[in-house]
Amino acid sequence: MREVKNCKKCNMIFTTNDGSLFCKKCQIEEDRTFKLIRDYLYDNPGTSVHDLSIKFNISVRRIEEYIRNGRFDIT
Ligand SMILES: [Zn+2]
Repeated sequence: MREVKNCKKCNMIFTTNDGSLFCKKCQIEEDRTFKLIRDYLYDNPGTSVHDLSIKFNISVRRIEEYIRNGRFDIT
């Protein structure tokens, strides 16, 4: 079933049928950011959320969301 939603990032209206939170454009950016951080963590295990936030210029809340969703393996 298709749903109409507001993108969590740019607030644009989009439709989704897989529960996505972001429009297509932002989803691509999200995936790219996520991969960058994941690769960075792979090379630098034990990096703190705070340091990641500064390094990738994204909010601590966003990183914590990634962690909550089980996408990163940091403590
Ligand atoms: Zn968007």
